[in-house]
Amino acid sequence: MKTITNIQDLPSPCWLLEESLLRKNIAIMKQIQDKAKVKILLALKGYALWKSFGMMRDVLHGCCASGLHEAILAHEEFAKEIHTYSPAFKEEEIKDIAKISHHMVFNTPAQFHRFASLAKGYNPKISLGLRVNPEFSKAPKEIYNPCGLYSRLGTTKANFDEAILEQCDGLHFHALCEEDVDALEGVLEHFESNFGTFIPQMKWINFGGGHHIARDDYDVDKLIKLLKNFKARYPMVEVYLEPGEAIGWRTGALYATVLDIVENGMSIAILDTSAEAHMPDTILMPYRAEVRGAKKPNGAPYVYRLGGNTCLAGDIMGDYSFDQPLKIGDRIIFEDQMHYTMVKATTFNGIKLPDIAIRRIDGTIDIVRQFSYEDFKNRLS
Ligand SMILES: *Cc1c(COP(=O)(O)O)cnc(C)c1O
Repeated sequence: MKTITNIQDLPSPCWLLEESLLRKNIAIMKQIQDKAKVKILLALKGYALWKSFGMMRDVLHGCCASGLHEAILAHEEFAKEIHTYSPAFKEEEIKDIAKISHHMVFNTPAQFHRFASLAKGYNPKISLGLRVNPEFSKAPKEIYNPCGLYSRLGTTKANFDEAILEQCDGLHFHALCEEDVDALEGVLEHFESNFGTFIPQMKWINFGGGHHIARDDYDVDKLIKLLKNFKARYPMVEVYLEPGEAIGWRTGALYATVLDIVENGMSIAILDTSAEAHMPDTILMPYRAEVRGAKKPNGAPYVYRLGGNTCLAGDIMGDYSFDQPLKIGDRIIFEDQMHYTMVKATTFNGIKLPDIAIRRIDGTIDIVRQFSYEDFKNRLS
């Protein structure tokens, strides 16, 4: 690990986590836990910068993992509660998952019946649950709607099988994506109207992720009230939330550099990063990443299309305008690049992965990971 004190020495491209901002988000989680008496887990799917786990371990209760590899990471690097859910478990992985997980959540009654006793055999203390589909969601797009038509995620009321109840300690739902508490309210109503009869016999209910808790205008007080009301209705039931995005929300940026400027009907800056490989949600979701100091295309005099350094024509971050002309070597800083970036990044086109750095509270910057050719080679054969 290398430590630098001058931001100019930051390698490029590089993700830079701001410890102070992450701690701010964790403080909001703490407030919710303290006031509503619920337990919050980190969803590794959205944020898995494990060298920062020490900043949240004393507050959060553990991690939610989407399968064996995330469960092992949680076990090795977070070492608190591990809640593992997978759309479908494989028999050969049950042993390793069950041994380190505290909760295991099945997607269907069929998986529950197939693996419940096996999992219990490896870990008699494991708590088993079922993911249900409340069949209500206000998710912004169909690919982020686990309750949409023909969804494979979670068990609908019609497919519920009461035969699992004897071994089932909890119910899990996940139906939100970047949503506010009003959306949760709607989901919860449907969850209770479909599955409410089973709640009193459960030890826990997991409210999933997608709560956009750390966003400035998120109504944290309303969430606390909603959680308290739920707990008042079911006093014996433990409540879990498992946000991913909200933990990493606005906690750091992706630093890149202008390599060349092409003129072809407009000015196009080629960067040493890639929308496709390093910030795929800008293409997939899609969304427009904010660039520090830049405006919308008509906001400032110098307009550029920002593009990645791969051979994919569509590897474009978008059009931005600047007060000064860009020149080769300039830094381009994409805001809010901590969640759903590192966990999704690829070495497509042999492009180097961005390094990972953490700016500590005292201002020093630790370069905690540098990538090289070997990372490209090692995942191929
Ligand atoms: C994706 C996911 C989460 C985390 O969602 P965020 O939108 O990152 O908060 C939590 N639980 C489950 C089951 C998920 O699939």
